[in-house]
Amino acid sequence: MRKILLILMFGIFSFNSAQNYKPIDTADYLMRKNFLTSYIKDSEAYNKKQKEKYGGKTGRDLSNTLSEYQKYFQDEVKSKNYVFNTPFNKFVDQTVNQILKSNSLNFPNLKVLVAKDNAPNAFCLGDGTLAVNMGLFNWVDNQDQLASVICHELGHLFLDHTIKTQLTDMKLEKSGKDEVKSLALTPNNKGEKAYQVYKRKLYKFSAQKRRHENEADSLGYVFFSKSQFSKPEFKKALQALKKFDTISPRVLKTEMYKQFFDLPDHPFKEKWLQKEDFSTYDYSHYKERIDQDSVSSHPEIDLRIKYLDKQFPEQNIVNKNEEPSAEFKDLAKIAKLEILPNFYQSEDYGAGIYSALQFLQNEDSEKGYYKYWLGKNFEKIYEARKSYKLNRYLDRVDPKNQTESYQQFLNFMWNLSLDDIKYIAEYYKKSL
Ligand SMILES: [Zn+2]
Repeated sequence: MRKILLILMFGIFSFNSAQNYKPIDTADYLMRKNFLTSYIKDSEAYNKKQKEKYGGKTGRDLSNTLSEYQKYFQDEVKSKNYVFNTPFNKFVDQTVNQILKSNSLNFPNLKVLVAKDNAPNAFCLGDGTLAVNMGLFNWVDNQDQLASVICHELGHLFLDHTIKTQLTDMKLEKSGKDEVKSLALTPNNKGEKAYQVYKRKLYKFSAQKRRHENEADSLGYVFFSKSQFSKPEFKKALQALKKFDTISPRVLKTEMYKQFFDLPDHPFKEKWLQKEDFSTYDYSHYKERIDQDSVSSHPEIDLRIKYLDKQFPEQNIVNKNEEPSAEFKDLAKIAKLEILPNFYQSEDYGAGIYSALQFLQNEDSEKGYYKYWLGKNFEKIYEARKSYKLNRYLDRVDPKNQTESYQQFLNFMWNLSLDDIKYIAEYYKKSL
């Protein structure tokens, strides 16, 4: 009997390991701890240096703001939002080293990290922390395009943009406060005037940010072109990133709901698909007071491309497509499979469910894996719904800003009862 059980267990186990992808392990306690120890030491030294460099109140304020942000960043590291010792880390480290070597660059305290984040992005803090999101591997086409994003970030670091942005922010904060204070003397329309002050500050701030983006693109391109990458790929990376949207724009067919939620002893209900009636809804209070475009930190990508074209016409001379390397292709495959664990890690449970359903609709392999994550996200949605916190994890329907498919999904989710959600969670969690 015991032997049979063992054979049975082994049988199940080997079946699973052959079928399902195993997500990246984030239990790398020691590496995280070592990183934090050296990070804290270096960032404290960095803050002290800035404090002395700028002196007085400016130096003090600057150092305080930096350490506030660094604490926030440390919490992110502690919450396992970064991975260590994965194939992604190896690849990104190699790329960074290649760029540094080709340009004879040396950044003391440079620390290169990989974030468990699906957004195709990277960031660089003035203290030398460079983080590359795993999501980039899902959106750029090859290793050279990935390198171009790193070059852009190293451009920001070289030009000390973090400190420059911080100083401007502090200056505007102060002049804004002075202006608002003087408004106290004028009795009429105080609110409107304070708003005008705020708006001016925001415009000035975003103008500087746009300039910084163009500067980081230019210098980044110089780093890039000296590092044996294929020149046209720099611009192509920007074009590739233009396609990004947080929520997948692909359509989730309505029949999928019936396919995945008509469960044993818990049949599908047509009323789950009912849509809220928005025809009489007043949208005017959704109208942004401040033009979205003017405050976004990255200027319209088209404008950045135009700027690059003007500065470096030679980048268009070669016109061949760089092929992704075998290593890059492997990483892109892993990054795709990490999308669901990453959404779960960042508590984007609604996006996780929508994504899982899209994978189940569009992919032929790893079905058990996607179903398992579907169940895990539903479990979190159940907990949130039970404690009246669902708003935090699931968008509200907003017909003006969402695709029809995503609205259908949100309607479905909000139509489910607590019991429905519980049943679905339990059913799908057993999929592995
Ligand atoms: Zn940038």
